[in-house]
Amino acid sequence: MSKQTHAFQAEVAQLLHLVTHSLYSNQEIFLRELISNASDACDKLRFEALNNNALYEDAPELQVRLSFDKAAKTLTITDNGIGMTAQEAIDHLGTIAKSGTKDFMSKLSGDQKSDAQLIGQFGVGFYSGFIVAEKITVETRRAGAAAAEGVRWISGGTGDFEVETITRAERGTSVILHLREEALEYANTWKLKEIVGKYSDHISLPILMEKEEWQDGELIDPSNEEAGRKPGGMVKTGEWETINKASALWTRPKKDITDEQYADFYKQISRDFEAPLTWTHNRVEGSTEYTQLLYIPSKAPQDLWNRDKKAGIKLYVKRVFIMDEAEALMPSYLRFVKGVVDSADLPLNVSRELLQESRDVKAIREGCTKRVLSMLEDLAKHDKAPEASGDVTDVLSEEDKAKIGQYTKFYAEFGAVLKEGLGEDFANKDRLSKLLRFASTTSDTVSVSFADYKARMKDGQDAIYYITADTLAAAKNSPQLEVFKKKGIEVLLMTDRVDEWALNFVHEFDGTPLQSVAKGAFDLGKLQDEEEKKAAEDAAETFKPVLAKLKEALKDKAEDVRVTSRLVDSPACLVVTDDGMSMQLARMLKQAGQQAPEVKPVLEVNPEHALVKKLDGSVHFHDLAHILFDQALLAEGGLPEDPAAYVKRVNALLS
Ligand code: ADP
Repeated sequence: MSKQTHAFQAEVAQLLHLVTHSLYSNQEIFLRELISNASDACDKLRFEALNNNALYEDAPELQVRLSFDKAAKTLTITDNGIGMTAQEAIDHLGTIAKSGTKDFMSKLSGDQKSDAQLIGQFGVGFYSGFIVAEKITVETRRAGAAAAEGVRWISGGTGDFEVETITRAERGTSVILHLREEALEYANTWKLKEIVGKYSDHISLPILMEKEEWQDGELIDPSNEEAGRKPGGMVKTGEWETINKASALWTRPKKDITDEQYADFYKQISRDFEAPLTWTHNRVEGSTEYTQLLYIPSKAPQDLWNRDKKAGIKLYVKRVFIMDEAEALMPSYLRFVKGVVDSADLPLNVSRELLQESRDVKAIREGCTKRVLSMLEDLAKHDKAPEASGDVTDVLSEEDKAKIGQYTKFYAEFGAVLKEGLGEDFANKDRLSKLLRFASTTSDTVSVSFADYKARMKDGQDAIYYITADTLAAAKNSPQLEVFKKKGIEVLLMTDRVDEWALNFVHEFDGTPLQSVAKGAFDLGKLQDEEEKKAAEDAAETFKPVLAKLKEALKDKAEDVRVTSRLVDSPACLVVTDDGMSMQLARMLKQAGQQAPEVKPVLEVNPEHALVKKLDGSVHFHDLAHILFDQALLAEGGLPEDPAAYVKRVNALLS
């Protein structure tokens, strides 16, 4: 194939522009990205070679080599991994295959600092080379292909790239960065060693650099050897040395690993800029043997809500990398967990399909799930600083001190995903329920657990009350809460989109049923005294004729109309039957374009309210009835079916 020019996919061109303009303050990550690609390429080769040993050709030792040429102003990263065919080079280095890229780009603000953060989380991979290079040449040959099937790819990182066939004896890929004038500092052994130490120490592959030695230069005075020589500088020796630790971090004993090393390893496998919130590292022995190193990130990724997003677990078998995103190892509701599982028992040629069926994998998945839950329970336990009692035994260890506030942080990022587990992981439902946190009528922050709530329950209270709404403000101001506020009964305020769904799976906590304040008939049980109950019954009795008329007037809108003592200041509210879908969930499903059953709510009216008292004998009865209904709908976040008619009715009354 002779030289061909291809245009970059539009998104690549856009990304390239961003990379070169916003990653300026964190240039050096380019090396991490390119070494990571080189390491992936070696992992891929190792994996393909399981079934075809010939792919190793005669170089079975996988490695990455870094070299630079000061005079030519180049820095080269070479791997002897899988390599690329011409078509692969065109496809992989000219388009962005990753899903969510467009979505990601739309989130960029144009502000350098925050964009750099985002790009860092997202990982720009190969294109990060253009941060330091004005031109990149890639020379590559696919393992197993003939030497004549090598490929050269060249681009200046703007609109297009060139591809041509070359002869390349060695398998694998060389990425040759033609350094920008300002980036010449990277053509330096110390600089490269420093960056590798920072980001790539734990790559399990050796990273090699040519050894340098100090050499004296020419004689200062050719006629007088005594006068000494000029400094000659560092000269390459032709001998290569490994510059990273090249030992898989998770195989080392815990005590030999510093927090910083754990955090660095996390950054490497997750391509996250930020340190993880916490991690757990264990060697599990028993019927299945494996090592797990699992991290909880500090921040939720862009695509957390994509349920197709694969798990963040890399599977190794006896230190051999098998696959990324091994979803069989972690339930979907823990898809934010990142880390490594290294099994001693699985066969090396295990496939995704096989993983789904393996009993060992099932045991690993259960073990990993339990570990993550324990980790979260531990954070939850230490989330709030204990009240100082002055007792010396109360003094917190440094480790526990560091945990204060961590669970709140975790929950703000991942709490909603965790709730999916209630419907997904029945075996751990009880543990998960204990990890839930909510805002409530006594706490604006999302920090109340079911146990906290129970501890504060009133004498005679026999249910955990909650309300679901679209926003915290809507929840707090719901008319349904009025009597609870008046009586000082706490109500949990649930505003996550998944709450309604998740609660389908949680009917009680520790023996106490959960009760929505917007569902079913109003019954406070023992919290209402006889007098109140009697008054309510009397009101209902005298109100009967009006109720009958209201039912008739609203028969198309309301399932039923009844009086309630739920309300204090509002004239009316809507509730649904005990087993009915809440109005909020029905609305949400509709908005999402899904089929939702038609929910006909019950209108409850407050017989003590002036407006309701006016109904009897009013010439505007019909209009008032509809206004009551529509206002109740508005109050809980809905919209009247016919907003114009509503406005007309209100205006008629106003004038
Ligand atoms: P990512 O690595 O996240 O997929 P990149 O932009 O870094 O994204 O790389 C795009 C693709 O180019 C890779 O998925 C891989 O297929 C290919 N690639 C990049 N570097 C190499 C390499 N050193 N050897 C073989 N293939 C590579």
